[in-house]
Amino acid sequence: MKALVLESYMNLQYEDVPSPAINEDEVLVKVKAVGICGSDVHGLDGSTGRRIPPIIMGHEASGVIQQTGTGVANWKIGDRVTFDSTIYNPNDWYSKHGMYNLSDGRIVLGVSTEEFKRNGAFAEFVAVPQHILYRIPENVSFTQAALVEPAAVAMHAINISPFKASDVVIVLGAGMVGMFVVQLLRIKGCENIIAVDLDAH
Ligand SMILES: [Zn+2]
Repeated sequence: MKALVLESYMNLQYEDVPSPAINEDEVLVKVKAVGICGSDVHGLDGSTGRRIPPIIMGHEASGVIQQTGTGVANWKIGDRVTFDSTIYNPNDWYSKHGMYNLSDGRIVLGVSTEEFKRNGAFAEFVAVPQHILYRIPENVSFTQAALVEPAAVAMHAINISPFKASDVVIVLGAGMVGMFVVQLLRIKGCENIIAVDLDAH
């Protein structure tokens, strides 16, 4: 398959690589849309140390199931899906208390550290465990579905921030997540929203 591989810091190569193998509880997803996270940008330049090359980045994506593992029962070839960026243990204490983002030994798609490496979705295909898949409704496009992960990040930020609709709310940072925060605040009834960013655009 074709993939965009971070071969070394600031050096992305579009090249042929083997398609990922899937184990029994995984599916192979043919990628239709993938976002570029701010963390991918900071992985590209090496500033976070969480994209140790070589790595295929990309964790905000959507696509179609191309192949299913032998233990996959509830998903089939052709299903339109998006997925969580975090691969967690569904049975540990954190996951059972709704905090799977803190799950012991969790790994992240498209991320490599000293502890783990997992290729992501800047490629034709990506291997995804079935327990992190979400079905895409027919009226949601692949591009929209690839935005679900950052939209969820924005929703979480709002859920943990106490405010009243009558408050003046300041959003620091007007990148993609910040823009989602602004839109979600408006849905929540906020009328006085100020977004701040250093970027002239
Ligand atoms: Zn991200």
